[in-house]
Amino acid sequence: MTTSHTPLVTEGTHLIAGEWLSTSPGGSGTSENPARDGEPVGSFPLADGSVAADAVGAATDALENWRKTSFWQRAKVLETAAALIDQRVEELAVLLTLEEGKTIAEARGEVAITAETFRYQAGMAKVSTERIYPSGTPGETIRTVRAPLGVVGVITPWNFPILIPGWKIAPAIAAGNTVVWKPASNTPLIAVALAQVLTEAGLPDGVLNLVLGPGSMGNAIVNDERVHGVTFTGSVPVGFGIRDAVTARNGRVQLELGGHNPSIVFDDADLDLAAPMIVGAAFGSTGQKCTATRRIIAVGSVYDELVERLATGVQGLAVGDGLQDGVGIGPLVSPGARAESVDALATAVAEGAEVIATSDAPDGECFFAPTLLAGNDRLSITTEEVFGPISTVLRAADEDEAFAMANSTEFGLSASIYTNDMWRIDRAVHELEAGLVKINAATTGSEIHAPFGGEKQSSGHAPREQGDTAVDFFTRTRTAYIRPGTIR
Ligand code: NAD
Repeated sequence: MTTSHTPLVTEGTHLIAGEWLSTSPGGSGTSENPARDGEPVGSFPLADGSVAADAVGAATDALENWRKTSFWQRAKVLETAAALIDQRVEELAVLLTLEEGKTIAEARGEVAITAETFRYQAGMAKVSTERIYPSGTPGETIRTVRAPLGVVGVITPWNFPILIPGWKIAPAIAAGNTVVWKPASNTPLIAVALAQVLTEAGLPDGVLNLVLGPGSMGNAIVNDERVHGVTFTGSVPVGFGIRDAVTARNGRVQLELGGHNPSIVFDDADLDLAAPMIVGAAFGSTGQKCTATRRIIAVGSVYDELVERLATGVQGLAVGDGLQDGVGIGPLVSPGARAESVDALATAVAEGAEVIATSDAPDGECFFAPTLLAGNDRLSITTEEVFGPISTVLRAADEDEAFAMANSTEFGLSASIYTNDMWRIDRAVHELEAGLVKINAATTGSEIHAPFGGEKQSSGHAPREQGDTAVDFFTRTRTAYIRPGTIR
């Protein structure tokens, strides 16, 4: 496949009250292809806080009517959106790879799951969330109903720039909320493409509003009293700042943040299964998954053989332009992201880590060779999240030490173990401090119909995203006591 691409000059990229606007008080932004040294993918106007406030106003105005629509109408829009995404998989996947850098195979997968998310949440819109409770008063019914949360701010990262917005926007609008969406600045055009899908699917004006702008513009959404809740996925410092601002005005906040995910490998593990799975989980998507395997804990005698197999896997990774055939690992998203990985690797080596294996990587301002380190749990890189393709093998003497090491960071998103011992499996399910516990499986990957989220600093305290729990964040529960009007 060729990588040549004509830049899109994109106007009308803010969607407010059904109008595509080009207002650019923040100047102009450029979406850049990380595989081609920042070659422009497209340019777009940048909004500021006042444009974001207009978007909140549009969402506020649209709320009353959307809230009252039937669940059938909302489900129909989501189903139509899913069908449109399916029709456009290739177009959307190419745009995703051009902006974000992941391989075209990864991009196709992400787009396909996004369609599935809209389809699933359309189905969930038809499932009753009401409950009936017994009453001590004859003739009375106690019934809980759900009201939409209201106007929802959706703030999303660049690493899954169509899927993560889908996780949030689909259940939000299914439950009768209206949305103001601020996507990440590195991946604006795929956000525009998703918003176009939803308008074409028949979403009424003002139900979804999209504003493109810098992170600081997000403050205008977060601090706006008219926004009833904010759902955020991104880094810990930004997430905690949003939490503080939203909860200070008694708004509702949902956070999905960083991770430092361990995989423990025991000496009874099937290494034919474990080694390739760990390499994929550590380095797939160029290590830019919140659930990527950052620490590999080898227990006892398995260490040498595991390291040898992991090294062979890393050396075999094909790094390059994600649109090219045969490439398994794309570039990092930006020169800044590459600089972070370069610095983190230098610090790790200075602190005593040993480089066990790297793969070849092309020259280019965003390419970084996937790197396997051997180290210990006192290294900065084994406690702080580095959002790139670096993973560290640690040695644990026994099961107790391995579990303690796995739980020793401030994060708790995902964790996995490889073993055939049912006692260890049971212990892992109960004692690994992570929202996702995977047994003989990668720390990465989840299914959209099951709840998703982390523990400790990896999440807030809101209900889980995805699955049948997604609706909980986006609705308020009201308890109705209903008695007949006439005394008998
Ligand atoms: P980020 O925190 O820098 O940015 C996330 C979003 O917040 C972007 O849209 C950004 O423009 C916006 N933003 C920045 N400053 C803001 C502010 N002051 N107010 C409001 N919005 C603001 O994160 P990122 O670099 O885009 O993404 C990488 C991080 O996301 C990693 O830490 C990764 O672990 C995490 N992540 C977590 C999950 C999860 O489900 N737990 C999934 C994907 C990514």
